[in-house]
Amino acid sequence: MATLVTGGNRGIGLAIAREFQAAGEPVAVTHRSRAPDGLFGVACDATDSDQVDAAFDEAEAELGPITAVVANAGITDDQLLLRMGEDQFSRVLDTNLTGAYRVAKRGARSMLRQRRGRLIFVSSVVALRGEAGQANYAASKAGLVGMARSLARELGSRGITVNVVAPGMISTDMTDRVPEDRKRQILDGTPLGRCGEPAEVAAAVRWLASEQASYITGAVVPVDGGAGMGH
Ligand code: NDP
Repeated sequence: MATLVTGGNRGIGLAIAREFQAAGEPVAVTHRSRAPDGLFGVACDATDSDQVDAAFDEAEAELGPITAVVANAGITDDQLLLRMGEDQFSRVLDTNLTGAYRVAKRGARSMLRQRRGRLIFVSSVVALRGEAGQANYAASKAGLVGMARSLARELGSRGITVNVVAPGMISTDMTDRVPEDRKRQILDGTPLGRCGEPAEVAAAVRWLASEQASYITGAVVPVDGGAGMGH
């Protein structure tokens, strides 16, 4: 029973993969350039269905059936609405939302055969809160919630749970690009008053993938220091 994490070569995805590895569970990560040291990596661009299917085939040949999938790969491309090109909108949706659909679809195939499984989508506090300049990103992340809840209804009778993790601001390459004054504002609205660490997201993901979370499906689990309370 193995796990596949997309975008597992750095940031939150890498922390998630290391969390599974530390628990002694078989895990594969997808990467676009180079596999991280000490982890089984398969090359895959989430915007290409053939690459997604091939990555699963390769991971299953090495590790056996994939019964947990963490759709983590994601990008931002921020711009205010009137300056946001349609390509900029579509590219973010294609990676973050359609990419998750591609891995969920291929992953569910194996899970249906096993009559058990865990689909976990990495969304964001921005999904339900919204953020100026992130209409594309927020739409993609909110879409994951609707998709997860639909799949939870569709796949529940087959022993497959589908959940969402919604991180707040986590220290990674992605947030390194956020201007310092904006970061300060976000942290001022975060009860815990600090950025989260990738490992703190990883712990929640691993728990959702475990037997302990067997009666949880369609949930959105915040890992955001309280930033999204009320949404
Ligand atoms: P990073 O920018 O550090 O890493 C992004 C990962 O996604 C990389 O592994 C990257 O691969 C991969 N990726 C991007 N595009 C594609 C693609 N087309 N196909 C395959 N892989 C791709 O981001 P984080 O670790 O911070 O973010 C991980 C997830 O968490 C994202 O979905 C993000 O939206 C979400 N998130 C992050 C938050 C944060 O504060 N950091 C907050 C809320 C949510 P490569 O190395 O090849 O580029």
